[in-house]
Amino acid sequence: MSSLPYRVAIIGAGSSGLAAAVKLYSSESARPISATIFESRREAGGRTRSFTDGESHDTLDNGQHLLLGCYTSTLSYLRTIGSKHLLQKQNSLEIPYMIPGEFRSSTLKLAAGLPVPLNLLSGLFQTDLLHKYEKIAAMRFGMGLMMFRYDKHMAHASCAELFKFAHQPVTLIEKLWKPIVIGTINLPPEKASAQVFLHLMRIIFLQNRKYSAMLFPKVGLSDMLINPAVKYLEQHGCTIKYGENVRSIKHGNNLIYLESDGGNDVFDALIFAGNYHDASFLPEEVQELIPPITYSPIANAYLWTDKKIIGKPICGFIGTSLEWCFSKPTHTSGELLACTKSAADGLIAKENDEIANIFWNDIKKSFPGSDAKLLRSVIIKEKRATPLLNAELQLHRPKTRTPVPHLYLAGDLVQNGLPMTIEGAVRNGQKAAAEVLKGI
Ligand SMILES: Cc1cc2nc3c(=O)[nH]c(=O)nc-3n(C[C@H](O)[C@H](O)[C@H](O)COP(=O)(O)OP(=O)(O)OC[C@H]3O[C@@H](n4cnc5c(N)ncnc54)[C@H](O)[C@@H]3O)c2cc1C
Repeated sequence: MSSLPYRVAIIGAGSSGLAAAVKLYSSESARPISATIFESRREAGGRTRSFTDGESHDTLDNGQHLLLGCYTSTLSYLRTIGSKHLLQKQNSLEIPYMIPGEFRSSTLKLAAGLPVPLNLLSGLFQTDLLHKYEKIAAMRFGMGLMMFRYDKHMAHASCAELFKFAHQPVTLIEKLWKPIVIGTINLPPEKASAQVFLHLMRIIFLQNRKYSAMLFPKVGLSDMLINPAVKYLEQHGCTIKYGENVRSIKHGNNLIYLESDGGNDVFDALIFAGNYHDASFLPEEVQELIPPITYSPIANAYLWTDKKIIGKPICGFIGTSLEWCFSKPTHTSGELLACTKSAADGLIAKENDEIANIFWNDIKKSFPGSDAKLLRSVIIKEKRATPLLNAELQLHRPKTRTPVPHLYLAGDLVQNGLPMTIEGAVRNGQKAAAEVLKGI
């Protein structure tokens, strides 16, 4: 056995690239690892990053992120880097909804003491979010899900086609399925892959009662997911090269030759965890594996109010432009609200003030008794929030292994049946690292 370090290059210091590096350094290895991460930006984090707002000094994320109990790979990553305690966990899924069009609010709450699927059945039975016929249709859908009744027809279908096939009432789709599809796949049911939705629903609702509970970061995303990983990696001897765009990858003699802004390097293995719309520097036989990518945007607004108005970690909105609102810690005002709208194609073309007003009006309509005033807003438009995961893309997502020896793919795009999420990104990073370790 050689004691020479095994040189691994990782492209991208988003959650996937960092998870890959953490896995390399925290696993048993036939040779000592020497990893170098190339990150084109001046900071790590990619699509999960935070910054300090200059005026309020509050920590803001590039967009509110929500984690679920089923994020098992992410939880193990957070445990390794020592930041799992920075998540606030629900005991079991509980979502308060505002329905201003019907002048009411409602709650969907799964029973904490019951195993799956009884917790789901009792939650559906008890909620006043749905009418009796909608509950029966939802339960029928759940039965079909458990019995894999839809899967063989749905490989090429959208969620809208799935709901039609499963005879789901339009009102149930609007109140229950559409918010779940948009919130998890960042696409409307007409576009989102049915196959991904079915897989995800089985994981969240049918495997373990803890998997549907929501996990809220108590601090900014960078302080929970990114900075502790960077610290862990630096302590273990990993080099992170910031501001270094990778320009070319070649291979031969069982080695990988990498050219970046900083010059030329040679590695024994490479993990690509960068952005797939911009991967023309990868070897041709790898590029051939990558399908055409378009993106689905997310619009985020931070609203500072003079008084508390929501006061809950999360609040869902039905029938409004605003979909989710989160109450965040603030130094300066009554409440800081992180508002999000996924699949926000129509919204992100608007001016920032207009977006803030649309969200604020939705909140005011939903809490008509409140005299809270909007003090200030910050809008963040993420045009490339997630690859547009329709049925076509789901069928053509690349796999971890490539035809090039010792070159592996990671990032949220790589096939794992999940939507483009932190969990998908972390899991794919860990899987690519496991492949590297196997190949030593
Ligand atoms: C607003 C918003 C809200 C979201 N909400 C949620 C949520 O609630 N829950 C959830 O689980 N997920 C959510 N997501 C999705 C989640 O953020 C992503 O799936 C995940 O962060 C992807 O991580 P990644 O490492 O694969 O990619 P990225 O984070 O994009 O990292 C790729 C990195 O590679 C670098 N790079 C690219 N090309 C090169 C190159 N040539 N050389 C060097 N470096 C390069 C980039 O600069 C970047 O840092 C959300 C995303 C956004 C934008």
